[in-house]
Amino acid sequence: MTVLDDLKALFEASLTPTPAVLTIGLLIVLLAPILLHFILSATTPYTTLPSVVLVGPSGAGKTALLTLFERGPLSSSSSAAATHTSQTPSSIELSVSANSTSSFRDDLDATGSAAKKFLLVDTPGHAKLRRHALSRLTASGTKHANGSIAGSGTAAPPSTLAKLKAVVFMVDAAALADGDALPSTAEYLYEVLLALQKRVAGGKKAAPVPVLVAANKLDLFTALPAALVKSNLEMELGRIRKTRSKGLLDSGVGADDLAAGEETDDWLGEYGSDKFTFKQMLEFDVEVDVIGGNVVGEGEGPGADKWWRWIAEKI
Ligand code: GDP
Repeated sequence: MTVLDDLKALFEASLTPTPAVLTIGLLIVLLAPILLHFILSATTPYTTLPSVVLVGPSGAGKTALLTLFERGPLSSSSSAAATHTSQTPSSIELSVSANSTSSFRDDLDATGSAAKKFLLVDTPGHAKLRRHALSRLTASGTKHANGSIAGSGTAAPPSTLAKLKAVVFMVDAAALADGDALPSTAEYLYEVLLALQKRVAGGKKAAPVPVLVAANKLDLFTALPAALVKSNLEMELGRIRKTRSKGLLDSGVGADDLAAGEETDDWLGEYGSDKFTFKQMLEFDVEVDVIGGNVVGEGEGPGADKWWRWIAEKI
């Protein structure tokens, strides 16, 4: 009987609006959601998608490629492939089938556990806006407690920086054929490769990022074949390297005479070498592949499947 009396008394007390009861009730109401938040956020792993960044000069076809992967094949008259003029990069979420198929068209439908998701991030190609693109590559990917990323000066979403898996540098192979576009294109590529080289140079721990030089517009008969795009770019990169380091080379200073990292910082590839080749980037774990293709003009060129397969391998 006494137990029942005790329970009754407790029940009555809990229904009596005394200050103690009110305080306990208030605490429960306020603390329960906070506790629930901590329990849920501790048990749910925070996932960041791997990202692939699209860079390259204006007019190379970056936006067209993004649109193609997002919406499937375009007709050549489609207005969907117009350059986006916004200053902030746009990104789309794509998935690659785990049992990789040969065509992006099949992969686009991949869903469920067999699909690996990633972000394809477009960047503006205009010279004045390139630092945005470059800051994405130099970001170390170390996340601060407040969610910002070390080394990034832009307001890029943290998830796009945290897991940079690959860089696609798009070039217009038809524009390269007349030679005028070569210096500016190579200048941009130099900056991109140097940024990636610096990520791993000097013993820094950063995951190596492979580069695909996508020689676009091969549907046009005026376009240079991928092998020529490669050799022309290598030659021009070598020339830029020589010009940039003119003072240094003339003074006869060798790599051994310099303190680690000093001056050699802006030298791309193997220090002191005469000719530049993309293979020299392997010294810094940066693998460079040059593959030809086209976004527009289906059936008139190799298409975009080889690029898609390259990306799929790196995710
Ligand atoms: P972005 O500045 O790098 O984003 O370049 P865009 O995607 O805006 O492309 C510039 C122009 O090149 C557009 O008119 C596209 O239709 C065209 N273009 C893109 N890819 C190809 C291609 O493979 N072949 C041809 N012939 N034109 C292309």
